[in-house]
Parts: sequence; structure tokens; C-alpha cells
Amino acid sequence: MTQKYAQIIISISVKSLERIFTYGVPEVLRPNLRIGSVVEIPFGAGNRIIRGYILGFCEEIDFDPEKVKYIIKEYEEVGIESELLDLAVFMKNRYVSTMQAALGALLPSRPNVRKKEEKWVRSLIDQDQLMDMIRTLKGKKTYEPRVRALEVLLVKPHVSLKEIMEEADVTRGIITTMVKHRILELEENIRIRMPYDLEAYETSINLSPNKEQDKALTSIINSIQEKENKVYLLHGITGSGKTEVYMQAIEQVLAMGQSAIVMIPEIALTPLMVKRFVERFGEVVGVMHSRLSEGERFDQWRLAKEGRLKIMIGPRSAIFAPFEKIGLIILDEEHETSYKSEMPPKYHAREVAIYRARYHMCPVILGSATPLVESYYKAITEKYTLVELEQKAEALSPLRVETVDMRKELEEGNTSILSCDLYKAIKSTLEKKEQIILFLNRRGHSNFVSCRLCGYVLKCNHCDVAYNYHKYNHRLQCHYCNESIPMVQICPSCGSKHVKAFGIGTQKVEAYIKEIFPKAKALRMDYDTTTGKDGHKRVLDAFEAKEADILIGTQMVAKGHHFKNVTLVGVMAADMSLYVNDFRASEKTFQLVTQVTGRSGRGDKAGRAIIQTYTPDHYSIVSAKNQDYKHFYSNEIQYRKLMGYAPFKEMMSVLIISTDEKYLIQLCHRIKERLSSYEDNKAVEILGPSPATLSKIRNNFRWVIYIKADSYKALTALANHLYNINEQEDHKHISHMQIDLNPMMSY
Ligand code: ADP
Ligand code: ZN
Ligand code: ZN
Repeated sequence: MTQKYAQIIISISVKSLERIFTYGVPEVLRPNLRIGSVVEIPFGAGNRIIRGYILGFCEEIDFDPEKVKYIIKEYEEVGIESELLDLAVFMKNRYVSTMQAALGALLPSRPNVRKKEEKWVRSLIDQDQLMDMIRTLKGKKTYEPRVRALEVLLVKPHVSLKEIMEEADVTRGIITTMVKHRILELEENIRIRMPYDLEAYETSINLSPNKEQDKALTSIINSIQEKENKVYLLHGITGSGKTEVYMQAIEQVLAMGQSAIVMIPEIALTPLMVKRFVERFGEVVGVMHSRLSEGERFDQWRLAKEGRLKIMIGPRSAIFAPFEKIGLIILDEEHETSYKSEMPPKYHAREVAIYRARYHMCPVILGSATPLVESYYKAITEKYTLVELEQKAEALSPLRVETVDMRKELEEGNTSILSCDLYKAIKSTLEKKEQIILFLNRRGHSNFVSCRLCGYVLKCNHCDVAYNYHKYNHRLQCHYCNESIPMVQICPSCGSKHVKAFGIGTQKVEAYIKEIFPKAKALRMDYDTTTGKDGHKRVLDAFEAKEADILIGTQMVAKGHHFKNVTLVGVMAADMSLYVNDFRASEKTFQLVTQVTGRSGRGDKAGRAIIQTYTPDHYSIVSAKNQDYKHFYSNEIQYRKLMGYAPFKEMMSVLIISTDEKYLIQLCHRIKERLSSYEDNKAVEILGPSPATLSKIRNNFRWVIYIKADSYKALTALANHLYNINEQEDHKHISHMQIDLNPMMSY
């Protein structure tokens, strides 16, 4: 094919200019250019010079050839793989973002960070010889620098040149002399900046799979060999050996000369996963996350591209690892909301994974003990392939989970935050010198009103989500449809006066625990106590080292950790996350409570978990107590169907922000009106506008419109339309709009 004309997409932050433009390709450039080339082009009336990305070529144009503009030059060093370029276009369309944002998400931060050509030195003589030499030379003035260098080598026989020169305070000349004397050698190869220390790890070998693992592996490995583009939902309780399945499947991928991506929900879980993988696979394991230095990140990117790394582990952004041939993509804990990006493009890593897997013709594994309702629905309707692990891989000590009805406590006169049972359990656990986790099920700004006596929660009739309580006007307001009613004083269900807004914080729990167990040492883990780079690790390490008896925390304490001495988990008020203004509230409660109760009894002592609740009969609580996913699913799916939420409807949130509240409210209503008159309006349902959960941040007012539709396409069409409407608005009060398709959080 001749490359007479090129179709180019430009990188610009104005959404409406993101069409595809056709440019002429000068003869000299024709042999070089390919899909993914980055080129310089003249743009617009003023022929401003900007960057463009080649999406394709054609031989003819449908406009006046006189008007054709030509590509000026190619940026040879920054071409992008055509697969990733195609992925960027997919993300731009699917999440209705700009090309710039899409490319920003999938390229390493600064593609121009240089390779670090660091020299290393290695000792050529052993420790005894080093000691001998130090003894002989010590005290002789001219040899002082050399002795200092030898002393460094004694501790670090393999060290960077920079480090030994700094630590021993010696010149390059001293090192050169030592090289001449064959005491050490200089390594000329480029040092790879690996974010972990390979030598600190042991090695591990495959465990022989149990029956369930074997069944899962047979099917997955077959898909890898046959290049079947299947999505597996690996539903396995915690400790059922999912990670072992991942590793043995990846072994097959590597044997075929391909690469694998393993995603985990958050950075804090990286070290544990990296350790397990490095112990099994060694130095082909790469790590990608936002806390790496730019240099480290670039090296990981480059090594993946060059094929020197074969497995990439990391949170969400690891999905963009530039592997040439991918054989398997894994999302561990697939239900976690962190897989959805909160920055434009607001992509979901699962969708991007499935898109990439289609290109590479390879399977995807979604692993979880508590899969998203949407995923499980797809699994049982056979869009995904369901594989289940129902047994623990190792014999663990038994776990007893109980619920305590806090309404009864109140009736019996106990108004404190601890039930009698939990109090007694803490006391006896402390006496046995075992550890306790107290979990406060608080998410974001949970704020709802309920009756303490009967557990009744005030909810919107239309949306079946809890009302938010607004202090300033004493009203209850629905976050989705904005309906509001005056705050109630008397419970509509039982007539009691114990109707109150719910809210307790970790600090309050900590203070209370200190008061009634003055001898116990309590550690608090929340956003305040975990600031800084190693914030989480500091608190967790201290607890692991038994520096405290009780760990009090929010969802941060629920995941991943393995404290062998914890034999009691107390859930302070399970209901706190049950009625946040979000249709996923029940699901998140079930996930969190299941996860946190599983923290108890992981060593050789039996575990106990106590769930304090005002609604012990709610299916989220009952299923978490019985560790019964299927019971939860069968209830939740009915609610979703009845109320028209995912997986039965697609949803979009439109957040609009302005410094002028009055203008903002008018704008929102105007936008809603124009949306309602939009051609396809029958296919969609528009809710709101209503104030966002965080209705004011730093003098910016925030309102939100929710839109539901049967088809995703209807929503993206509407989103594009919305951007057009918004651009036509006269923005004298500076407003800003953010669109999120199938949001995982409530705005
Ligand atoms: P999950 O990822 O499902 O939570 P893991 O893969 O972490 O489970 O496995 C839990 C524990 O069981 C680990 O200590 C692991 O080494 C062990 N394990 C997994 N598979 C086997 C097996 N086939 N035989 C013996 N132990 C196993
Ligand atoms: Zn009541
Ligand atoms: Zn409502």
C-alpha cells in the first residue's frame, strides 16, 4: 500500500477538535512512517505546529487536494506501538475522554528519562583475604584511603562505584589502582534499577495442586495453549490457593515465550505479591506503580518492551505494560473499586484488560472471594467462564463468626459502642496475650439516619438508597434524585424517638478503648496515622511485632495482611457502610465484612469474629456471617433488577463544579432540560440534579446528574453531546464538568 495520505489524531486538550484529520505524506517520509508514528503537523488557520499520531493510511481523499496540508517530520524516537495507540483510541471513545488523557494514562510519565549508566564494582578476593589486606595496610598513612575502600568491600562485595567512592571517601584513582592490582573489577554493564532486591528472596517451587486447583488449571492452561480469548472468573475463598493457580498458569505462559500481567488492587499489597512471584520466577518479574521513581518506572517500561521482563505486577496502571506478546492477564481481587481510575480517562482496568486480551488472543483471569455482582452475573450467564475453589488450600484453624444485635443492647440499657459480647471477648483475648482488630466500617462520608431501636433506615422511595442528613436545613435528601423531606423525629416503623444520624470515628473508638482497657496498647490506622511513604507499613509492622494489642482501623486493616496472633476481630457497626448513598452499599458491606472477619485465626489458634449490627437480618450481614457468597448474590441481584442498577442498567454520572452556586444550579437544570430534549432521550432516564456527596470543596460547589440507560452506547453518545452543550454555555462563572461512565463511587 502506498502511504499517500495519513489519518492523524492530534493531541490537544480541546475535546471538539479530536476528530481524525487527513494529511499528505511527503515522498521522503513514506518508507518510514507506520501506524503509531508521532509526527509534527501544521494545524488550524494559523498553521500552528503541533503533534499528531498516525492512526492509518489511505490513497484517496474526499476533499480538495489543493487544501491538503503535509506532515512536516517524524519524531523518530517516540513512536508508540500500534496496539497501544489503538488502545488509546478505544479508551478515548469508551470513556469519552481526550486523546491526550488516554495517551497520558498509558505512556510512562516522561518517555525521555535516560538510561542510567551506573558502574558497579565487584570484589575479586574473598573476605579472609580482604581482612588480611586490611590488617597489613592499616596504620600506614598512604594506604588509609585504600583501607577505607577495602572496609566497604568487606560489607558490600558488590557495590555501585558511586556508593563506594562516597562511603569510603576515595577518588576514582584509588579504585583504578585497586582494579590494576586485581583486588576488584569494574562492571561496565548498565545497571538496571530494580525496585526490589533479588538477593533478599528465597526460591520456591510449585506446590502440587489440589483437586480444585487442578481442575481450574487444566482449563486455564488449555486456553493459554489454544489462544482462547476467554474471561475466567476464579471465585475462590481467601486461602483457597488462587495465587498458586495464577503462578502455575503463568509458568505455561513463560514456557510459550509470552508475558503476563498481574494486577493487584493497591500499592500496599505489592511487596507481598512481588515476593511470592520473585521467589518462583526470579528476575523476569517487574513492578509498576506510582510510588516508583521516574527512573525506576521508565526502566520497568523499557525492560518490558525489550522482553527482558516477562511478568508485570502492580496496581491498575500495570495493565499498560508494553509487552509484545501477552499470554495471560490477571486481576486479583477483581471486585475492588481501585481498578477504576478516578482521573480522566476514567477507565476500568478490567475492561482495558479484556480489550488487550482480545488483541493478544489470550485469556483473562478475574480472581476474587467476593466477586462483583456484575462479574458473577456474567459468569453464570456464560459470558465469563466460572471456576470455583471452595476449599482452603491449607488446613487453617476454625473461624467462628457471630453477630450481635445492637438494638437488644440498647433495650437492655447498654448505650456504649461496645456490646457485652465484644467487651467480654476483648477482655479474654487480652488476658491470653493474643491480638485484636477492631474494624470501623466507615466509607467516605457515610451519613444516614436510622432508628437505634428497630434498625429502620430512612430511604428514598424512588431510588431505595438511604437519605443523606443535612444539618443546615434539617432535611433528608436523596443523593440520586434529589427528593428531600424534613428530618423525622419519630421512627416511621416503630414510633420510637431514637432516630439519629449515624456516625462514629476511629478516634472515638480509640478513646473509648483506652478508657475501659487502660492497660492495653491500641494502635489506630486511618488516613491520619498513615501519612507518608511508609505510613501503612509502619503501623502494620508495629502491630505485627506485637507492639500493640489492639489495632483500630477503617477498611485499610481489612486487606491482605497476615497477622498470626490475631484471634479476635470486632466489627464496630457493620451498618455504617450499609447505607451510604450508593447502590453498591450492600455489596461493599458484604465484601468488607467478609474480608475483615477473615483476618481472625490465621495462625494455629482458632479465630473469632463479632459483627455488631442494628440489622442482623440484612442479607449482607447474614451472608458475611455465614461466609456465603451465593446467598448474598441471589439477594443482591434481585435488588439490582428491581431498582434498575448494574448489571441491568448502565449508568453515567455528570459532576458539574462552579464557584457560583446559583449559577451552577441553573446550569444543571438547563443541561438536564437540553438532555431531555435530545433525540435518544427515550432510552435514558435522568436523575437529579442534586448536590454531590461532597457538595462544596474549597469554595467550589459541586452538583451531580445521574443518567441511566439500557445501552452503553446511548450513554457515550449523550456524553459527547454533553461536552458540546457545555462548550456552548457562556462560562462566566467558570464551571467544570466531569463525566464518569459506570462509576464505582458515588459523587
Ligand atoms: P488465595 O490467593 O486464594 O488467598 P493463596 O494462593 O495465598 O490463596 O494460598 C493460601 C495458602 O495456601 C498459601 O500459604 C499457599 O502457599 C498455600 N497453598 C496454596 N495451594 C496449595 C497446595 N496446592 N498445597 C499446599 N498448600 C497450598
Ligand atoms: Zn424504629
Ligand atoms: Zn431518590
